[in-house]
Amino acid sequence: MAGAARVVLLGPPGAGKGTQAKLLQDEFGAAQISTGDILRKAVAEQTPLGKQASGFISSGALVPDSLIVNLVAERLKEKDCAKGFLFDGFPRTIPQAESLDGILKKAGLDLNCVLSVQVPQNIIVERLAGRRTCRKCGAMFHVAFNAPKLDGVCDSCGGELYQRDDDKEQTIAHRLQVYDTQTAPLVNYYRARGLLREIDGVGEIDQIRARVIEALGDLVR
Ligand code: ADP
Ligand code: ADP
Ligand code: ZN
Repeated sequence: MAGAARVVLLGPPGAGKGTQAKLLQDEFGAAQISTGDILRKAVAEQTPLGKQASGFISSGALVPDSLIVNLVAERLKEKDCAKGFLFDGFPRTIPQAESLDGILKKAGLDLNCVLSVQVPQNIIVERLAGRRTCRKCGAMFHVAFNAPKLDGVCDSCGGELYQRDDDKEQTIAHRLQVYDTQTAPLVNYYRARGLLREIDGVGEIDQIRARVIEALGDLVR
C-alpha cells in the first residue's frame, strides 16, 4: 500500500460496508475495525462489555458512546493497525467522531478519507432481511445476492450461518431511524472537514469494490 489508509466507511446498516472492508483488508492489508463484530464477539463470550451491550444491540439502539470509544482506543493499539485501518460501523455519532479525532491526534495520526456508501432505503431493507452471518468468523452472506455455496454454511470457515436478531423486520425499521437521527449528521461533519468522498453503493459486490478502490485512489494503490 502506498500511503497507509486511515479510512472510515460510512453508510446505513446494510450498505455493504463490512463486505467491502473485508475485501479491502484481504487485498491491501489495512485492518478492518468493525465495532459491530467486536461487540457481537463480546456478547457471545459474555464478557462485561458484552453483558452491558447486548440489550442495546438486540433492540437496534446504539451502545453508549463511552463503551465504544474505549474499545476503539484499545483496538487501535494492536499491531495490525500500523499498516492502516478501515472503520466499518464506527463512528456512529458526532461525539464518537470527536473522540476519534482526539484518539488519533494523541497518536500523531489523522483520518485521510471518509467514504460514504449510498444505498436507497428499499434496497437496504432487502439486504438486511436476507443477510446471514457466520457465527464463527463474522463473514456476511445474503440468501439471494451473495449466497453461500452450501446452504447455512460459511464459505470461508465452515461455521454456521445465522440471522442476526437485529436483522429481523421490526428491528430493521428502528435501526434505520437511529441511523437517520444519530449517524447521518456525520456526512456533513466530515464534508466540512474536506474528508468526504461519496460512492453509489448499488450494483454487484465486485462493481462496488472497483468504485471503492477508485475512490480511495492513492490511499490503497
Ligand atoms: P450493521 O452491519 O447493520 O451496520 P453493526 O454490526 O455495525 O450493524 O452494528 C450492530 C449493532 O451494534 C448496532 O445496531 C449497535 O447496537 C451496535 N454498534 C455497533 N457499532 C456501534 C457504534 N459505533 N456505536 C454504537 N453502537 C454500535
Ligand atoms: P453493512 O456492513 O454496511 O451493514 P454488509 O456488508 O453486511 O453491510 O451487507 C449487508 C447485506 O447485503 C449482506 O447480506 C451482504 O451479503 C449483502 N450485500 C453486500 N453488498 C452487496 C451488493 N453490492 N449487492 C447486493 N447485496 C450486497
Ligand atoms: Zn465463517
